[in-house]
Amino acid sequence: MKYGFGIDLGGTTVKLAFFNDEGTMLNKWEIPTVTADGGSRILPDIAASIRAHLDKLGIADSEVLGVGIGVPGPVNGKGVVNKCVNLGWGVFNIHEELGKLTGFPVKAGNDANVAALGEYWKGGGQGCENMIFATLGTGVGGGIVVDGKLVHGVHGAGGEIGHLVLNREETEPCGCGKCGCVEQYCSATGIVRMAEKHLAATDAPSSLRELFPLTCKDVFDHAAAGDAVAADILEKVYAYLGEFLADLCAVLDPEAVVLGGGVSKAGLPLLDGARRYFDKYAFHGTKGVRFELASLGNDAGAYGAFKLALSEFGA
Ligand SMILES: [Zn+2]
Repeated sequence: MKYGFGIDLGGTTVKLAFFNDEGTMLNKWEIPTVTADGGSRILPDIAASIRAHLDKLGIADSEVLGVGIGVPGPVNGKGVVNKCVNLGWGVFNIHEELGKLTGFPVKAGNDANVAALGEYWKGGGQGCENMIFATLGTGVGGGIVVDGKLVHGVHGAGGEIGHLVLNREETEPCGCGKCGCVEQYCSATGIVRMAEKHLAATDAPSSLRELFPLTCKDVFDHAAAGDAVAADILEKVYAYLGEFLADLCAVLDPEAVVLGGGVSKAGLPLLDGARRYFDKYAFHGTKGVRFELASLGNDAGAYGAFKLALSEFGA
């Protein structure tokens, strides 16, 4: 039996998990992400935490196959991180740096891609060889698995599906600087933005008007409770989401589309709504695709990170 680590590096916490080579998560814990001094303490802190864990369990270095890590920014296949603004990081090779600090081989990927790999391996996409994972959270991220392999892309920007342009008439800018991105309509913030615009444009009575601040969950809850305006807002969201997923499926023709992130907590109404518009916009050859909810929650990144290491360094 060999072991390894899966690490999900976020802007405020680092989630670490220890696995055996059968893919069982044995332990998980968190340490704070210290972003002071250009993020220079982050990797030494991770290495120290790994070392302390092995010492505690009495596991020898020879029993460790490697370390996988998801980072919040673009990473290429050689491990070159190309600026993680949240962490204060510039350009450097994380395989080499974290490898030196831990003494173990390291494989890194972009955090959204790595979470997709986790869902593919142990979550909503289990059993698929081709899968699209879309995280509908504060923003929209994603990851794409083709023939069992994650698409990293040449610049490590593969799977940045949140920045496909859905609306060329949009005048408000997305966080990326463009206008009309998926993220502006299908993220939690995008849904609230659309709700506020919709409410301002109509005099129709709505229970949403009494809520400050309005949240994405409110829109789903009030639609479920029968508020017609909330339901109209969600129809717009579903139309954008269905069109977006139909376009992706025309390119990739996957077995499953897996939806994760905070918005996916809306559950079946979200899947059903997206499906209705998907069926309207999809190319006929892709209509058999399954829609699934992500099932690993916050652990998807750690599972995917370990899977990266297991695929690269496992027996
Ligand atoms: Zn954008």
